Amino acid sequence: MTAALDMARGQLGLVWPNPAVGCVIWSEDRCVGRGATQVGGRPHAEVVALEEAGASARGATAYVSLEPCNHWGKTPPCVDALLAAGVAKVVVAIQDPDPRTNGKGIARLRAGGVDVIIGPQAASAAEINAGFFTRVQEGRPLVSALKLTGNEDPVAVGHDAILRLLEGDVAPVFEVRTGGVRARRWVVAPAGTTVFGGQPVPYSPGAIQAGNLRSAMAAIGALGLTRVAVDERDDLRWALADAGLVDR
Ligand SMILES: [Zn+2]
Repeated sequence: MTAALDMARGQLGLVWPNPAVGCVIWSEDRCVGRGATQVGGRPHAEVVALEEAGASARGATAYVSLEPCNHWGKTPPCVDALLAAGVAKVVVAIQDPDPRTNGKGIARLRAGGVDVIIGPQAASAAEINAGFFTRVQEGRPLVSALKLTGNEDPVAVGHDAILRLLEGDVAPVFEVRTGGVRARRWVVAPAGTTVFGGQPVPYSPGAIQAGNLRSAMAAIGALGLTRVAVDERDDLRWALADAGLVDR
């Protein structure tokens, strides 16, 4: 499980809107397959590991850092792939609170005759998934205040994006910058009607308030971003903190 968690951690910042997951398949005292969620969020970790394992997956044990998905997204459910491969046992670090999966993945594996164990290294898995869980449960990304120089790649600090306050002509606006091979930039006005990728919506000066910051953060969550960082010295950090929107 430690190896699965390490692989998941290594993908943070690269796999939004999906969670970073790692999977190791173990058969007859040796590792026959390993995989992590790929850049952009798919294929999922289990599919990558099963592909490597091939026929060796039959009767094997899969260690997965998050409950395997049970829903059709852009790819078939990983539960189906694990069942089709004939895996005998699945060890899951933590259950997925996403309502599309939340316990259903585990239940379907068990119904298919797979022995399922839940909980090893759950605390580490919760930490790796903290951003994804915050978005699923609160509809916004996890926000960290970090000491930043201003030019970091968000992936290098384990985040999907860095938020920064810009000097707006009309009113304060902020920048959302993602990194790695998913590098992109949005300009966000923290108003009720937030526009991304285009001109910021003008609104009355001084209007960075809890209510419109919450709506802006919800809009960022809707983009699929799960973990965002803000410079601990940026005024935006204090505005977000006053609104109860800084998590760590
Ligand atoms: Zn999956």
